Amino acid sequence: MTKLCFILGDQLSESLSSLAAIDKHKDLIFLCEVTEEATYVAHHPKKIAFLFSAMRHFAQLLTGLGYRVRYTEYDDVDNAGCFEAELCRAIDEEKILEVHVTFPGEWRVLQKMERLKKELLIPLIIHEDTRFLCSIDEFNCWAKDKKQLRMEYFYRMMRQKHHLLTDTRGKPVGGTWNYDKQNRKNANHIKTFPGRLTHPIDEVTSAVLSLVEKNFSHHFGQLYPFNFAVTREQALCEANDFIEHCLVYFGDYQDAMRSNEANLYHSKLSFYLNAGLLLPLELCCIAEEAFKNKLAPLNAVEGFIRQILGWREYVRGIYWLMMPDYANKNYFNSSRPLPSLYWGQDTRMFCIKEVVRQTKTEAYSHHIQRLMITGNFALLAGLNPKDVCEWYLAVYADAFEWVELPNTLGMALYADGGVMASKPYAASGKYIQKMSNFCKSCTYDPRHIVGEHACPFNSLYWNFIDQHQDTLKINPRLHYAYLNWNKMDQEKKKNILDKAAQVLTALDAEQL
Ligand SMILES: Cc1cc2nc3c(=O)[nH]c(=O)nc-3n(C[C@H](O)[C@H](O)[C@H](O)COP(=O)(O)OP(=O)(O)OC[C@H]3O[C@@H](n4cnc5c(N)ncnc54)[C@H](O)[C@@H]3O)c2cc1C
Ligand code: SF4
Repeated sequence: MTKLCFILGDQLSESLSSLAAIDKHKDLIFLCEVTEEATYVAHHPKKIAFLFSAMRHFAQLLTGLGYRVRYTEYDDVDNAGCFEAELCRAIDEEKILEVHVTFPGEWRVLQKMERLKKELLIPLIIHEDTRFLCSIDEFNCWAKDKKQLRMEYFYRMMRQKHHLLTDTRGKPVGGTWNYDKQNRKNANHIKTFPGRLTHPIDEVTSAVLSLVEKNFSHHFGQLYPFNFAVTREQALCEANDFIEHCLVYFGDYQDAMRSNEANLYHSKLSFYLNAGLLLPLELCCIAEEAFKNKLAPLNAVEGFIRQILGWREYVRGIYWLMMPDYANKNYFNSSRPLPSLYWGQDTRMFCIKEVVRQTKTEAYSHHIQRLMITGNFALLAGLNPKDVCEWYLAVYADAFEWVELPNTLGMALYADGGVMASKPYAASGKYIQKMSNFCKSCTYDPRHIVGEHACPFNSLYWNFIDQHQDTLKINPRLHYAYLNWNKMDQEKKKNILDKAAQVLTALDAEQL
């Protein structure tokens, strides 16, 4: 009996559960590049190029290992354009009797799989995605009796389960679970940051780049220069380079932002983790090893492990626990359409302009830029969560809905009403001034709330606090914000709210 193992573009791991279900010598592996997946949102050209090139290299690797691989390229003449039709064609032409697939990363794709399962005349078997360190069932079980689903407690459970940075009694090394308080330095005094690896463009990547240039250059984002790792070997070099040169300061400057410096000490490994070229546990283990070998301090290593073992697994758990309703949440009933400055239209707000510019050139920006610049602005300006989520899904090379949606809708926009975050991540220009050097290059002044040059974040922040006091003033973490707002006299409040209205009018008129 010939079985077919169908591998999706973010499942490029040799240890994939569906691969283990087939016979290397008898069965068939199938991968396909299809229009529907490349365009259901207008993905950044770098993201499409990265995934297509990584898929083609993965197919080559499997062929080299002795597997029989069928691969549909994007511009193959008979490419049907969606994976269901391509899969059916493969089943027909190869006389397949059973299909194996690993659980997909998106609800949308799972629905397609479930439909296929009913329609196909042969069995389609969906295997658990064992690359994650917490299964969906395990997460649901953890969540079942909790009033609040806070990441911190999930993370502690995961540290104990995987014996990472714990002693023999299961207690945290150093005596504390979380060293985040030490990880809030700004990087304004740092002269140079570590350079990053470059990877040669081989024939495979070169063909993909031409294809993407021809078909997707109308999508937001710059294709060249292209410097992504596209094989596991290259991705491992990226991981080792991060451990050697960046991990030591990863914690200290995790929240810092700098103009013309997208990377700082961040790992830039999310693309490779999410596509399957790297595995979460191996990264946590090499980081822990670096701590044991005194190559990096505890605050850095704990911070890095928390992002992968804690946040990454937690957001996946939240996604599958809450979908499909989660995607429609809009706690604040925000409805302003996404303004064109998110697509690179000129703005005097330097921080937004800089993060959007970096996003356009790199298909990457680091967490605090996503959360506290573009995310914070979207929250304060009342942008429609659906538009904002679609933007994040399109523009970042690491964006797949299971990880993008909870981060955007839950963490950045608080549109889930506090499932993920204990308070909205709303901040004024003062925070951005403290954590970056952006304000020095800006027409606006973070010290002012009103007046011609006042930073738009300031009046929008108080406007947000005022507008949502019915729901937010009982939140203990916003106690001081409401105390300060209520201390202001009526005239001051009115001036601030008037200024916020002017800012929003200017935003709508594309004149901010
Ligand atoms: C609005 C918003 C949208 C986001 N969308 C995505 C997305 O589409 N895809 C994505 O992978 N991450 C997303 N994140 C999380 C985070 O910003 C990125 O994982 C991180 O910036 C990737 O860069 P890095 O590899 O240099 O991360 P580092 O700072 O070096 O962190 C190490 C690793 O930890 C993991 N990680 C860190 N924070 C998170 C988090 N909050 N959720 C999940 N994993 C995390 C990533 O795998 C990352 O590679 C989003 C965050 C926000 C606020
Ligand atoms: S002044 Fe305001 S708008 Fe300008 S960079 Fe600073 S925070 Fe951004």
